[in-house]
Amino acid sequence: MQKVTYNRVKIIATAGPACKDPAVLEELIRAGVDILRLNLSHGTWEEYDYFIEQVRRINLKLGVRVALLADLQGPKMRIGKLEKAIPIAPGDELIFSSRLGRDGIIPVEYETLARDVSPGDVILVEDGRVRLKVLETDGVQTVRLKVLAGDRIGSRKGINLPGRPISLPTISEKDWDDLLEIAHRQIEWVAISFVRRPEDVQEVRYFLRRMGASTHIMAKIERPEALEHLERIAAVSDAVMVARGDLGVEIPVEEVPLWQKKIIRTCHRWGKPVVVATQMLETMIQNASPTRAEVTDIANAVLDGADAVMLSGETSVGAYPVEAVRQMQRILMAAETDPTIYRLAGQPDANSPTYLSDAVCWTACTLASEVGAKALVGLTYSGYTAFQLARWRPQTDIFIFTSNPRILTTLNLLWGVRAYYYRKEEATYPTIYDILHIIRDMGHVQTGDVVIFTVSMPLQARQRTNTLHIAQVP
Ligand code: PGA
Ligand code: MN
Repeated sequence: MQKVTYNRVKIIATAGPACKDPAVLEELIRAGVDILRLNLSHGTWEEYDYFIEQVRRINLKLGVRVALLADLQGPKMRIGKLEKAIPIAPGDELIFSSRLGRDGIIPVEYETLARDVSPGDVILVEDGRVRLKVLETDGVQTVRLKVLAGDRIGSRKGINLPGRPISLPTISEKDWDDLLEIAHRQIEWVAISFVRRPEDVQEVRYFLRRMGASTHIMAKIERPEALEHLERIAAVSDAVMVARGDLGVEIPVEEVPLWQKKIIRTCHRWGKPVVVATQMLETMIQNASPTRAEVTDIANAVLDGADAVMLSGETSVGAYPVEAVRQMQRILMAAETDPTIYRLAGQPDANSPTYLSDAVCWTACTLASEVGAKALVGLTYSGYTAFQLARWRPQTDIFIFTSNPRILTTLNLLWGVRAYYYRKEEATYPTIYDILHIIRDMGHVQTGDVVIFTVSMPLQARQRTNTLHIAQVP
């Protein structure tokens, strides 16, 4: 694995026309992208398949482990397809219709819009760029509105009704169809948009399990209901995203920074990876360099304890996709020199069914810092050990060895985790000895360095981690 950069906090980049050229995509990955996100709100499976194929090709070529994250559209209410953006001005009156648009009527893809709003409600378009006030609704399909702010209505832009419950299900018909495609392709991660309850996550998990897919689930926190049920959503998900775009229009935007910290702390308590997303380098969609505020925001996400940070338009439609990733990578590296992000406080939960193996991983991290170990090595088939080692944020480098090819790339999302394929069927001690040589030959450790292993003995039984081994590089 010859990845050029070794940042601990991982980078998610969104695929799109700006990185479609295979040379650009490869540059993006060389610059530090760990996960490529397919935004299922835009595009077709033919286009996603292109990116899936490219990523798998580049992984082989560069020896990297880039994973895919398929991001479901969810019950996103949006403006219908327009030939071109419609110019508007404050004071204008508009008509939205959930049936087909006619002259002077703007189509919306939101079946129950006319039922969900009442006169006086405020509707936002494009994450708040446009503010509209409801004047009248026929309760069936047509809503008359007045423009409060904004200069245009763009094709397929998102609609929000801040603070109003929506009557659509979290997982839409389109999402179920997409989940089938995701399962067939064994995509590593799926993100559920607009999660409201833990049951939303469990429904998807049940479906994926029935399909025999090992796809891991990320819950996007972007609705007020999700904040209410944060604790239980974190408990049942494999990872969580602070989706600041929609969150910032669903709740007062000034509350977003506090929620970001609170969501991250909750994820730390549950040992779940957490992603900070949206507008991280927004101005780099047009400009070759970021603002001071953007640089500080990314660094603060690292200091808050994020596992990963995400780029959206910056890499999908921006003019400087590679520069944005390079910039982000440099900001991460600088922020990671701050000692406060390492060695999280806390202890494994004694009531957890996985308490004993969790305690082995926690002890491994504690021991690693006590003896100044140079590497923490986890041998795992399910990948669970990697989650448990990453969760305590050890300063010691984490190396995961697994014979499970699917897990190899899945783990690329996790803080500090580098995964390697290893498949010799040997007893525990020869395996440990062999891996010591491997990481020495890769240049990660030198003769005399201390290395700590977490293992499940006997190896072949594939049970939970039950063994801690301390070794010196021969
Ligand atoms: P989106 O999710 O880009 O799919 O809307 C992220 C967000 O809302 O921040
Ligand atoms: Mn969103």
